[in-house]
Amino acid sequence: MCQKAIYPGSFDPITYGHIDIIKRALKIFDEVIVAVANNSSKRPLLSTSERVKMVKQATKGFDRIVVESFDGLVVEYAHKKRIGVIVRGLRMISDFEYEFQMALTNRKLAPDVETIYLMPSESYSYISSKLLKEAAFLGADISNFVPKSIEKKLKAKFKKK
Ligand code: ADP
Repeated sequence: MCQKAIYPGSFDPITYGHIDIIKRALKIFDEVIVAVANNSSKRPLLSTSERVKMVKQATKGFDRIVVESFDGLVVEYAHKKRIGVIVRGLRMISDFEYEFQMALTNRKLAPDVETIYLMPSESYSYISSKLLKEAAFLGADISNFVPKSIEKKLKAKFKKK
């Protein structure tokens, strides 16, 4: 049986931290669906299609992954795809409270869907899409946080603004 998992998130933009989690998930699951939230409450900088494109670009050459966007509740999306596992990343204790609430809410909504947490390498555990956007906006070198192609796109985006 092919074991699949969904890795949902805003990916605004994808970082080396997200990529680390995808690689770890691929060691456990046969297929990982990276699901870019269309209706993220975080008011993303990048459009859904830009974020999907960037995830595809950053994971080019990875076997066994599918990248797509989704609308609405992640558990409904999981049901639609008939996938029973959601993967999320845990960086710091500060992630814990939000992730804990979300996992338990999702469990109440869909007891058949399990959420599992993976920890990134410590060298990526401080990276956040939010902070690197701020750094990029202020002209910082963000090559330690995102692949070159993403850095270029992000810089171009800020130039246009
Ligand atoms: P969301 O808006 O759903 O939180 P994010 O793109 O911010 O979307 O994060 C998606 C998932 O990836 C979350 O579980 C988050 O904790 C995890 N994540 C984000 N950055 C990192 C990182 N640097 N290392 C490991 N996990 C991360």
